[in-house]
Amino acid sequence: MRQRDSHKKQEKLERPRGTRDFLPEDMEKRRHVERIMRKVAESYGYREVCTPTFEHLELFTIKSGEQIVEEIYSFKDKGGRDLALRPELTAPVMRMFVNECSVMPRPLRFYYFANCFRYERPQRGRYREFWQFGVELIGSDEPESEAEVIALASRILDELGIDYELHVGHVGILRNVLRDVEDEISSKIFRLIDKGQLDELRELMLSSGLESLYNDVEAVIQAESLEDLPESAGKENISRLKRVCELLDVYEVKYSVDTGVVRGLDYYTGIVFEVYAEGLGAQKQICGGGSYRLAHLFGGEDVPSTGFAIGFDRVMEVCRLKPAEKRRVAVVHANQLEESIKLAERLRRELPECVIVTDVMGRNLRKQLSHFSDFDFAVIVGKKEVEKGLYTVKDLKSGKQEELDFEELVNRLKSTCQGTQSI
Ligand code: ATP
Ligand code: MG
Repeated sequence: MRQRDSHKKQEKLERPRGTRDFLPEDMEKRRHVERIMRKVAESYGYREVCTPTFEHLELFTIKSGEQIVEEIYSFKDKGGRDLALRPELTAPVMRMFVNECSVMPRPLRFYYFANCFRYERPQRGRYREFWQFGVELIGSDEPESEAEVIALASRILDELGIDYELHVGHVGILRNVLRDVEDEISSKIFRLIDKGQLDELRELMLSSGLESLYNDVEAVIQAESLEDLPESAGKENISRLKRVCELLDVYEVKYSVDTGVVRGLDYYTGIVFEVYAEGLGAQKQICGGGSYRLAHLFGGEDVPSTGFAIGFDRVMEVCRLKPAEKRRVAVVHANQLEESIKLAERLRRELPECVIVTDVMGRNLRKQLSHFSDFDFAVIVGKKEVEKGLYTVKDLKSGKQEELDFEELVNRLKSTCQGTQSI
């Protein structure tokens, strides 16, 4: 190992590949969007849950198989336990449900906003640490629960002013078509369809002696309407999809039926949906969801659930919303440091919606004013002002200056701060 020489300038340490730093401006935008997502989810009765950042590795391999380990940050802890940073939150939330909530009255409506970790090849819209906003509606097997979850996803994206396409399908349709195919091959088929690798799909099916089924699979992927589906799609699946669509019409959600949506993860059993946004290239999928059954795999009873996860970072790439800017007030002083701190504290109590900043650099008045020149107001505290109980407030945009007592000052700032508070 290279010896560190304390006198020599060291090479800069970089953050790990696939991770990001967020500066204040990024965080303000991210928090603004996050608040909107929470607000919409809460208006539908969803309540926030939080699960651990790491879980037993087994939680993620039970359904998805050992090959998922390649895509996971997994490690042994000092006690030799196999753990994993969560790659997603549906399995953790269902594990929590089995551990903590299985006797609660149903349905349960949960939402989460949390970071996830995947060992992926980093590129635009694909990171090794990324955030998901998601919901799980647990305990209902009715089409109205599926319609509600889909409508909620679409309502959140509407609130964010994003242009998107919502595709709704039913994974049972392809499962029915492939019901006699052995698991390993059908799982490969699903994966290829999910990735849109249709040439490879054809090759695989023909080389596995499944040419007769290939036509049906192709018909399902390309179906323009439910009438185009082959007999093998299964009547029940089709009528379920129809019913969910009728309910989505009631919600006035815009969508298209797409029976080629199958989702990458193996646990979906019924309705599935994906949302795509323009302008993101290959990483255009900003949300995915559907109905699944997982609880019985984690030692609970077999509970039907529906959920989705929005890829928060991809949403941030296409969302143009910004929080309203807060009014910024600098309390500056001419050799009156203590008085300026006192005044700033009083103003912060009176004007919680404003940003109030004082000098901490030991600068003189002229330098303070110059440093704060992009603020909205400067309140100047001088010896004379302190004696008279008056403060000079300067509108830094117009240059207008007034001398006010404390109450007038608060009212003056209050009137300009109103309406600038972000939700
Ligand atoms: P993709 O096919 O793009 O890899 P996925 O099918 O793996 O997506 P899900 O597991 O359904 O995605 O996760 C839900 C959402 O999380 C995706 O729609 C996407 O927007 C986002 N997402 C998934 N992986 C990443 C990642 N590595 N970086 C950023 N966002 C991601
Ligand atoms: Mg993926």
